[in-house]
Amino acid sequence: MEGWVSMPKVELHAHLNGSVRDSTLLELARVLGEKGVIVFSDVEHVILKNERSLAEVFRLFDLIHILTTDHKIITRITKEVIEDFASENVVYLELRTTPKKNDSIGMSKRSYLEAVLEGIKAVNTVDVAFRPHNADVSNVKSSSLINDTCNGSTRKEIYVRLLLSIDRRETTEAAMETVKLALQMRDLGVVGIDLSGNPIVGEWMTFFPALKFAREQGLYITLHCGEVPNPKEIRAMLDLLPQRIGHACCFEEEEWKRLKSLNIPVEICLTSNIRTNSVHSIEVHHFADLYNSKHPLVICTDDSGVFSTSLSKEYNLAASAFGLGRRELFQLAQNAIEYIFADDEVKRELKEIFNSAEKKLD
Ligand code: 5GP
Repeated sequence: MEGWVSMPKVELHAHLNGSVRDSTLLELARVLGEKGVIVFSDVEHVILKNERSLAEVFRLFDLIHILTTDHKIITRITKEVIEDFASENVVYLELRTTPKKNDSIGMSKRSYLEAVLEGIKAVNTVDVAFRPHNADVSNVKSSSLINDTCNGSTRKEIYVRLLLSIDRRETTEAAMETVKLALQMRDLGVVGIDLSGNPIVGEWMTFFPALKFAREQGLYITLHCGEVPNPKEIRAMLDLLPQRIGHACCFEEEEWKRLKSLNIPVEICLTSNIRTNSVHSIEVHHFADLYNSKHPLVICTDDSGVFSTSLSKEYNLAASAFGLGRRELFQLAQNAIEYIFADDEVKRELKEIFNSAEKKLD
């Protein structure tokens, strides 16, 4: 496993509330248990359970959202999640989260996002570059990834960008509010919009106006696409020409053809797909076909907390399941630079990081 940990990696599909450490969730549950808000013993076994259907995963998210309700906790989990990714040499992280409104505690979508930004600034095990190069960087610590070697020490560094998720339970107006928020927060590292949430809930036409508007305004788009069989929706999603899609588990011949002709990169989440039974077994996972046909793809975690995984574990799984070596997986990680939602300067700096790591590969 150490070999995969030390390799630089790019993470493009990670949900904030799905990436929370079990230990943090248990600590938060214990506190709410003591306050009588939940029954700790009931919640404990749900958090620690390993195998979950897709439906159970979404019930678990409802529970996690109860545990992570307030601003301070959002700040804490953001900090921890970034530190966890950085600790396994993720050098570029696109973290996605659904801005939440909760009048009872004075939370608006904006204040939720501000709590996330506080979490980014609170990271102290690594240097975080989260603002675009063309943003106004006054009052912000370095947004470059040049190592601080002044005092002889080399700090670890990570680029972080944010995607705002629209939950499929939301209305058109709520989806539009998220897109407008993303536009207002562009200088603070928000680069795009994701559509996620329970795939059997909601209608494409509910989200389409907001997604179309986001595209027109130049935000990047990635969509959870084809997690359940729904050819009509898959076709409509591809017609929007998102810059990436996630999962693509339930595509039929026609949809594969269209995806491949459009060359849209796919975020592949192996453990998540197997655990939720979206794909029956690793042997029949579409990773192999996409890889063999040289279709752009990127290995991701989805929900490292919920699925007890890490990006290094996902690389290890791809290596063992598909017989890929270190060089081939290094190449995949390096290729992912082309699919990130950041400016050319970030891409250039990431390429330098990978070039210098490549020299130490053998
Ligand atoms: P959050 O947006 O609250 O930070 O992260 C958790 C949320 O991400 C879940 O409530 C759900 O909306 C979305 N999510 C996490 N994993 C998945 C997944 O595998 N599929 C889909 N469709 N949505 C997911």
